[in-house]
Amino acid sequence: MSDKIIVTGGAGYIGSHTVVELVQAGYEPIIIDNFANAEKSAIHGIQQIVGKEIKLYEGDCNDYSFVRDMLKKEGAIAGIIHFAAYKAVGESVRKPLQYYKNNIGSLLVLLDLMLEFKISKLVFSSSCTVYGQPDELPVTELTPKKPAESPYGNTKQISEEIIEDVVKSPLPIKGIALRYFNPIGAHPSAKIGELPLGVPNNLVPYVTQTASGKLEKITIFGDDYNTIDGTCIRDYIHVVDLARAHVSAIQYLESKNETSLFDLFNVGTGQGNSVLEVIKTFEEVTGLKLNYTIGPRRPGDVEKVYADVSKANRLLHWKTIFTLADALKDAWRWQQTLG
Ligand code: UDP
Repeated sequence: MSDKIIVTGGAGYIGSHTVVELVQAGYEPIIIDNFANAEKSAIHGIQQIVGKEIKLYEGDCNDYSFVRDMLKKEGAIAGIIHFAAYKAVGESVRKPLQYYKNNIGSLLVLLDLMLEFKISKLVFSSSCTVYGQPDELPVTELTPKKPAESPYGNTKQISEEIIEDVVKSPLPIKGIALRYFNPIGAHPSAKIGELPLGVPNNLVPYVTQTASGKLEKITIFGDDYNTIDGTCIRDYIHVVDLARAHVSAIQYLESKNETSLFDLFNVGTGQGNSVLEVIKTFEEVTGLKLNYTIGPRRPGDVEKVYADVSKANRLLHWKTIFTLADALKDAWRWQQTLG
């Protein structure tokens, strides 16, 4: 059996960490990336960690003949992990067509080619945004989805549905959608990590760039929510734990003989932390004081969301090994390499 796993978006934040975990689990990851939101340096970082060269095809997953030529060249493939997608919520509201074309188009190209090349296993990057503000916490995979609040969120919901329809048809494809909570941190080696484009939108890169002096201060978006300290609650997961879940998902698909298996898994820690807790923990682990202020709520933010991860624990035999403190330490170590 082939050990080759195609990783689309394999130079990106979660993709690069997953490539490392795949190598360490004995797979041969092959990266496709167009570097729309990734840097070549990520490939060097991966190679330094794993101590060998990783195959890279530079191009777009929406480019049918490019992907087809690559698959022809590579021969038997064990599975595909599909990360490549646009991911900026705000931008998706301004450029919905770009998001639908890119995120849905690439999935359709891959599914078509999976059939042609008899590749049966697909792991897809989904998101806890499908739950919106849930009525009950923690959210399980059975928690009802809420209408998407952005074209980005909608591409995740639609993609899950497309995969489910394909899997349930007589077509020989099995699929897993992993619903990510909030990935943070970096590889403990500090050779790979998140490289936000421009001013970061996400909390932890904003925190680390403020601590490094690149940004002047961080604004907490609202402290009047109905939570322990008034700031929003999220489930922050170390990116290496999230990466490990993809290896477990591939192994799970390999262990199942049924041809029409579709499954969804929450991938978080199961623990909710407030924005202030993240900031305090960061200060504790780094010994730094962070310059922060309280500002107004950010439109579209949900108050609280965190995962029930018992299904992934049970079926994928996966559980997190890193703490919030570990993740923040690693995020800071990585930031220091960037200056
Ligand atoms: N957040 C904040 N200041 C920032 C960036 C984020 O207070 O500069 C808060 C945000 O309101 C949310 C949490 O941090 O409650 C996580 O935000 P992020 O954008 O990282 O993730 P998401 O909103 O997608 O869960």
